[in-house]
Amino acid sequence: MAEAGPRPARGTKVVLLTPERMLARASRRFLTERTSACVKCGSRFVEHEPAFIHCRYCGAIARIANRSLLEQEEFELRSGLRVAS
Ligand SMILES: [Zn+2]
Repeated sequence: MAEAGPRPARGTKVVLLTPERMLARASRRFLTERTSACVKCGSRFVEHEPAFIHCRYCGAIARIANRSLLEQEEFELRSGLRVAS
């Protein structure tokens, strides 16, 4: 008998509506890796943020997959993009 041990639950896909997920949905664009050019207009005038590529030319913000939003938040707090409450 080869079938021992816990089996993965079938058809169980937990979808949590975390802020991260909503943000991901909002941005629509998901990069698998960091690019040096804007995904929308191709401009190289982009700013690298921990979890995003922010185009300074057209304003597009592309989310980088698997990047911590905690890191991003810290970055935003440090750079004064957000006001700490
Ligand atoms: Zn752009």
